[in-house]
Amino acid sequence: MKALKLDRNAIGQWLSAMAGERDIYVPAPDGPAKGTWTLLTDYSMPEIKPGVPARPVKNFLFPQPETLLKFSTVPTDPNCCLPSEPEENGRKNVVFGVRPCDARSIGLNALACKADTYYQANMEKNAIIGLTCSQVCSTCFCSETGGSPMGTEGCDVSLTEIDGSYIARAMTERGEALLALAESSGKEVTDSDISAVEALEEKARAGSDEIRNPEEQLRAKDLMELYNAPFWQELADRCINCGACTFLCPTCYCFDIQDETLHGKGRRIRCQDSCMFPLFTLHASGHNPRGQKIQRVRNRFMHKMKYFPDRFGPISCVGCGRCVRDCPVNIDIREVMRSLLHI
Ligand code: SF4
Ligand code: SF4
Repeated sequence: MKALKLDRNAIGQWLSAMAGERDIYVPAPDGPAKGTWTLLTDYSMPEIKPGVPARPVKNFLFPQPETLLKFSTVPTDPNCCLPSEPEENGRKNVVFGVRPCDARSIGLNALACKADTYYQANMEKNAIIGLTCSQVCSTCFCSETGGSPMGTEGCDVSLTEIDGSYIARAMTERGEALLALAESSGKEVTDSDISAVEALEEKARAGSDEIRNPEEQLRAKDLMELYNAPFWQELADRCINCGACTFLCPTCYCFDIQDETLHGKGRRIRCQDSCMFPLFTLHASGHNPRGQKIQRVRNRFMHKMKYFPDRFGPISCVGCGRCVRDCPVNIDIREVMRSLLHI
């Protein structure tokens, strides 16, 4: 696959060339939009801080909200009850500066969303340009969950900063086509550039934490034996069911579907939801299989470390650390993993 060396000027020219075809979103700089993704309007290399932005990349894959279809509520309208096609999604995007953990989450969610045509269309719509991590934050633990600060999974193009320039490696055919737009401004990579990237990859492997291959370690234990372990109640006592961990988590994909109507027109939308809310599982009969907080807290962690891997293979956590960083009562999934492994 194609690789180029791009200095900051060359990145600016590349962004400008890509903007002819796609909208480009980058992590917002400090200010009112901090933590979100913002449309790039000046085509220079954005300042991207270490770590992940508050909002995960899933917001491009599960737009908040997403119109599934439109309809009319006017009785005389011959099409009143017939849903019309969803609106054309418009221009495609480049999501630029995506950290390896976030990029990896796209493929994990796709395992569960194989039949979700909206998710698949959004994968098609959003090209991912990743940026590997030269600095690992205190809440990051991607290496413990099967990823790496140098990971490229889920990226169309992966950028690695070396001495103020970027080694851009195409990872997919779509990435190859995008990187071709930088051909005139970039330079060929040299053997020493490749060696520098490989050295960083080796360093990332060596820096992996004590919990390696957690899928294997977690699978080696029968987690169902811990279904009634006392620590679930301790976690539930602390949790306030705010749902922040699930909305911020790149690998949580619960959603709700609602119809909205106004002035004879209607639309069916889906929006992100949270399994931490009691209403999420409330049946029309009034029965609620997860009416108690301990059931919801246990389900969140068991889904990530037992149910999802049982069905799809990998654990459903990429170690981005958002839930660790933003839980108001300091519930830390790393401690839960250790509890599950060491009880
Ligand atoms: S569970 Fe927490 S650390 Fe893991 S991917 Fe979700 S937000 Fe990130
Ligand atoms: S962020 Fe913390 S308090 Fe809020 S629902 Fe998640 S675990 Fe509970």
